[in-house]
Amino acid sequence: MPPAGFKCKQCGKCCLNLRDAFETCATEEDVLFWEKEGREDILSWVDPIPLGDDHFIYDIWISPITGDDVQRCPWLRKLPKKDKYICRIHDVKPQHCREYPRSRKHAKETGCKGF
Ligand code: SF4
Ligand code: SF4
Repeated sequence: MPPAGFKCKQCGKCCLNLRDAFETCATEEDVLFWEKEGREDILSWVDPIPLGDDHFIYDIWISPITGDDVQRCPWLRKLPKKDKYICRIHDVKPQHCREYPRSRKHAKETGCKGF
């Protein structure tokens, strides 16, 4: 849930420029939810790294073709003829993305104009 007073301007800056937006980890809850929803399209970009004792970290977004980190989030799309971006998995995006920005201060520090 975004902080009060926040409204996304769809500038795409966070998804384009903040490497931790697309080179981070999904939570176990994210992965369980995508499994429940049958979102193999999303899961194919997740690389579970075993930590032992049946625990994993879920590295995103890893190309299912090359096995490498991406340079840009695969779900980000620029709207035709507009300087606006959308997330193609907005309704089911990872917790990390849902919680951005964490606060007005976080938005200011990271260049988000949503306030
Ligand atoms: S930087 Fe802020 S306003 Fe721009 S797309 Fe990201 S959340 Fe929205
Ligand atoms: S999943 Fe969506 S919100 Fe998260 S970095 Fe990609 S385009 Fe942005």
